[in-house]
Amino acid sequence: MTTQTLPTFQDVQAAAQRIAGHANRTPVLTSRTLDEQLGARVFFKCENLQRIGAFKFRGAFNALSRLDAAQRRAGVVAFSSGNHAQAVALSARLLGMPATILMPTDAPPAKLAATRGYGANVVLYDRYTEDREQIGRDLAQGEGLALIPPYDHPDVIAGQGTAAMELFEEVGELDALFVPLGGGGLLSGSALAARALAPRCKVYGVEPEAGNDGQRSFRSGEIVHIETPRTIADGAQTQHLGQHTFGIIRRDVDDILTATDDELVACMAYAAARMKLVLEPTGCLGFAGARQLAPQLQGKRLGVLVSGGNVDLERFCSLLGSGQGLV
Ligand SMILES: *Cc1c(COP(=O)(O)O)cnc(C)c1O
Repeated sequence: MTTQTLPTFQDVQAAAQRIAGHANRTPVLTSRTLDEQLGARVFFKCENLQRIGAFKFRGAFNALSRLDAAQRRAGVVAFSSGNHAQAVALSARLLGMPATILMPTDAPPAKLAATRGYGANVVLYDRYTEDREQIGRDLAQGEGLALIPPYDHPDVIAGQGTAAMELFEEVGELDALFVPLGGGGLLSGSALAARALAPRCKVYGVEPEAGNDGQRSFRSGEIVHIETPRTIADGAQTQHLGQHTFGIIRRDVDDILTATDDELVACMAYAAARMKLVLEPTGCLGFAGARQLAPQLQGKRLGVLVSGGNVDLERFCSLLGSGQGLV
């Protein structure tokens, strides 16, 4: 992978112009109680309040906006059981393109309904016997659809970088930024924004402890592949980083941390009780990382990317009910 093919901060700026008026400029929240507890100032960029409830709308809308007229007529295809599916479905509807979304037969009914509700054609596959990447490629080739990957694509990365860009524009320099890590679209885009707008800011990716392929890749210099990890952070159950995302991460990121499921539940409980925020487990990875490093960052200014808030109410309650003495 040569650096010419990697997106740059100029691509993030261009993405910001494309999504302006379509994506929400999400709020930055603070908590004085938390600042006192941690001994640092923490700024939360709240992408749980983005359209579709997660930052993925940014990358999907940017990528779809870049397609030419013929490709727009043919439409797009994506495979995802989570936030990327809804991001592509909504972006396609807003841009007047047909969208086909491949989802597993056992995807939560609420997610199937939400994706269909945005007007997408949902194609079901059996996740145990069928290869979704193959089905996606067949649909892309057979019907001329543009395949929109969830993270390893320059336009997706550039779009995801606009959230951190807005954060730096609003609060200025930070000493450290903590970003949830799955396949690395959000982290690599955030790193592009940080290196351009806050050169002294340390950038940390935070992934589930059960799936620390990102940390191992970062430290070994080679993309490490793992089995689908068992974690409540379903938005970060990726098996490996991408070529593009890893190229940026190894160059522009300072380190990769991990968080346990219990730490994520503690953060969900804190955000709900003290900040009135409903967050999904994956959305709390950055917060968990900031809590871990706070003892070393006394008096500093920390940014936390809150990546999403899509969690069934029933699941939210059962996860919070399982924790003890967390708030
Ligand atoms: C997709 C997702 C992530 C991980 O993003 P990557 O770009 O794959 O690293 C984190 N949080 C939420 C809520 C997500 O939907």
